[in-house]
Amino acid sequence: MTTTHPGKRSRTRAPRLSNTEQSQTARPQAGATPEAAESPAAEVSPEPEGPLETRALRDVVTAEPLVEGRAASFESLGLAPSILEAVAAAGYVAPTPIQREAIPLAMHGRDVMGLAQTGTGKTAAFTLPIIHRLLGGPKRLRCLILTPTRELCQQVDESFRKYGEGTGVEVAPIYGGVAYDAQEKALERGVDVIVATPGRFIDHMEKRNASLDSLEILVLDEADRMLDMGFAPQINRIVSGISPYRQTLLFSATMPPEVEALARKYLRRPVVVQVGRRSAAASTVRHAVYPVPRVRKNDLLVELLRKPEMDSVLVFTRTKHGADHVVRDLHAAGVEATAMHADKTQAQRTQAIERFKLGEIRVLVATDIAQRGLDISGISHVINYDVPSQAEDYVHRIGRTGRAAATGDAFTFMSADEIAMVRTIERVLGKPIERISIPGFDFGTVAETD
Ligand code: AMP
Repeated sequence: MTTTHPGKRSRTRAPRLSNTEQSQTARPQAGATPEAAESPAAEVSPEPEGPLETRALRDVVTAEPLVEGRAASFESLGLAPSILEAVAAAGYVAPTPIQREAIPLAMHGRDVMGLAQTGTGKTAAFTLPIIHRLLGGPKRLRCLILTPTRELCQQVDESFRKYGEGTGVEVAPIYGGVAYDAQEKALERGVDVIVATPGRFIDHMEKRNASLDSLEILVLDEADRMLDMGFAPQINRIVSGISPYRQTLLFSATMPPEVEALARKYLRRPVVVQVGRRSAAASTVRHAVYPVPRVRKNDLLVELLRKPEMDSVLVFTRTKHGADHVVRDLHAAGVEATAMHADKTQAQRTQAIERFKLGEIRVLVATDIAQRGLDISGISHVINYDVPSQAEDYVHRIGRTGRAAATGDAFTFMSADEIAMVRTIERVLGKPIERISIPGFDFGTVAETD
């Protein structure tokens, strides 16, 4: 066990390695940030056995799978027959790229940092090897999956049940905004896996309903989102109570320096698996920008919703108030729509998603709370009613459509004051987004009034 401090280690570059060798030896450079060096978790990080790779995490890209030749089938990944059955029942024919890369590594017990946006199949990429490891083992809490939002928590729980069908591996979702009783009962009965949001999990830890003593695997899902939401202290508190000999899997759509620091603190010699270019938008999505004065955005929305192909539409607004406003205006125009944001109760949010999934609601108007973790297969369109202020958020929002092999359209309403933000997004995407001008709506053809 070693304590590392900034400046104690030389920043010299290790000899150049092949991709595969890099993946085997890559280790986060300890002590690069004060948080990483001073945290208790950094102090318990065991020293790597192999040569020290001093590259920054962001430079380490593993594209080489451990198995020879790319695994074209789930069978070739070596997953247990009961898991293969569940995967076949889910209708999956072949693993997605993140699954091909991450599953063998996780099955070898490696720490993995998966850089993959939502819609790439990342949930199965960590869930399947976990189920494989837990199969037939002792009944005790062995795996904790932390997620930023209740919605993602429910969704990962659902995926776990789907992929773990018939395996005997038991999972409990633990999130806030609902009563404690049912969760307490589930924990008392005993489960192998908990999928939790950090705050509610800590509540249960404090009430001694859940113990970290026997944990073997920790997953930090959508780590960037968790940090954005201010969960760093809670994550630190939870992780510092888990054995340093655990396996840690961290997934993040983006790798800002904060996520890199988190990985340095909590992962041991991780292999970084990156699928697609960072910030690359789902390639099946057709993007378009509609220039429109702010005051005419609602009319444009109503106009677009007249198209029959717009049968399942997720509309994003920047604020809760904005979402409510759009829903009111849509109702006034005779369009059924429901709002989903943080002011709604958990029951209302769950019900809204359920009804949207079942096709009972055609239009769901949401703030960024719904941006990630929401798996609604078959969304036909995402509409950015407001241009997201962060380019990365654009990628996450449109990740709601075009999931897995489906196709979808992502439309962005751009008022004159949002032109600069759209240009920034285009720079991040590395290409211009098509402009669609509708006469009577485009601020090039009507007087800008806002
Ligand atoms: P995720 O990125 O984990 O949120 O998954 C996105 C979607 O892809 C979900 O609807 C999954 O059910 C689906 N999916 C995951 N793995 C596969 C696969 N190998 N083949 C087809 N669909 C998949």
